Amino acid sequence: MMTCPSCGNPDGILDFQFDIDAVKQSWKDDPLCNRPLNIWRYRELLPLASDHIPDNWPVGWTPILNSPRLAQSLGISQLIWKDESRGLTASFKDRASAVAVAHAQMQGAKIIACSSTGNAATSLAGYASLAGLQSVIFVPQSAPKPKLTQILIYNATLFSVQGSYHDAYQLCSSACERFGWYNRNCAINPVMVEGKKTAGLEIAEQCGVLGGIPDWISVSVGDGCSIAGVWKGISHAHKLGIIDKLPQLLAVQASDVSPVSHAFHHGSLPSVVSGSTLADSINVSHPRNWRKAVNAVRESDGTFVSVTDREISRAQKEAGKHGIFAEPAAAASVAGVANAIQQGIIQSHHRVLCLITGGGLKDTNAALDSCDSPIEIEPNIQSLVSSLPPTFTDKNA
Ligand SMILES: *Cc1c(COP(=O)(O)O)cnc(C)c1O
Repeated sequence: MMTCPSCGNPDGILDFQFDIDAVKQSWKDDPLCNRPLNIWRYRELLPLASDHIPDNWPVGWTPILNSPRLAQSLGISQLIWKDESRGLTASFKDRASAVAVAHAQMQGAKIIACSSTGNAATSLAGYASLAGLQSVIFVPQSAPKPKLTQILIYNATLFSVQGSYHDAYQLCSSACERFGWYNRNCAINPVMVEGKKTAGLEIAEQCGVLGGIPDWISVSVGDGCSIAGVWKGISHAHKLGIIDKLPQLLAVQASDVSPVSHAFHHGSLPSVVSGSTLADSINVSHPRNWRKAVNAVRESDGTFVSVTDREISRAQKEAGKHGIFAEPAAAASVAGVANAIQQGIIQSHHRVLCLITGGGLKDTNAALDSCDSPIEIEPNIQSLVSSLPPTFTDKNA
């Protein structure tokens, strides 16, 4: 059972609760500083029996980077990246999929399925292949090729659904019911948020060396599970005494696909969402976990902003100038920060963390569109001299 029997789906998505005092005691007996640098260090806070912790699977403890030049150009006190592109399949979804596959194994499942805009599927295929389980994936036909390539190379059975993510989602749910497959869909399976929350716990631990927990954490929103997960981890960290202050959440949606933002600002989902965005990972017209996302943002005293595809492309290029190659949905978190600064939501004395939820190689077409073309030249020095951009000086000229 994954949803509350009286509320049903989608409103009754369950939520794991933990005995925080017991976790405190356990951390005292076996301190975090002696544990591996991956999500399994938080084993007491995961919905897995201790003999089902796959602690040799790589996942989590992605790097945080301070970006003082970008902070200066944005006019804020500090900008920190947490780069989720450095995991097994290069997205934030690795956290959820690793825990889901371990959970499926614990339940004795042999086949695990999901529908996805791309990254959830990619990460599921990756961890299923580590575990030796069969994965079945449903993606909308619009998913970028590099993501499809990842899914296929991990030996998943891949269905490209002639329709939207919404159609792929519905089909996957029916298939799981019919065939009894383990359903990794984040929106319905509460295990997923438990994987995602490890990012919040890590942010709390890692930011200690960068001046403490930031004032704002910026996260892009599609279904809403990711930001809700981050908040759950932050809340755990607060209750467990890792941090003594809570950050505000900046939730970022694409202007033309922003139903969760609408729900936050107006109290309910819009009746129709017909737009679309180049940021495929947040191109979600029927969000499945919007309540959890809205509640998390409210609880953090944060807010939602929306950014256009142009702002996203610009942010993707800007991030690249500072050592970060983000896919469009990840760059949206940066665009959201610029937008929130303009609106006076984020102020000059604030310290901000952007969660880079996915790597740029996952959608090279979108990345190329935000860049200049290569300069074509003949293989000789004259040709180079005459094509050199004006920022370069020629000492022989
Ligand atoms: C899934 C995803 C998101 C959004 O997460 P939701 O849980 O759908 O809100 C953002 N960025 C990337 C790269 C993603 O893959």
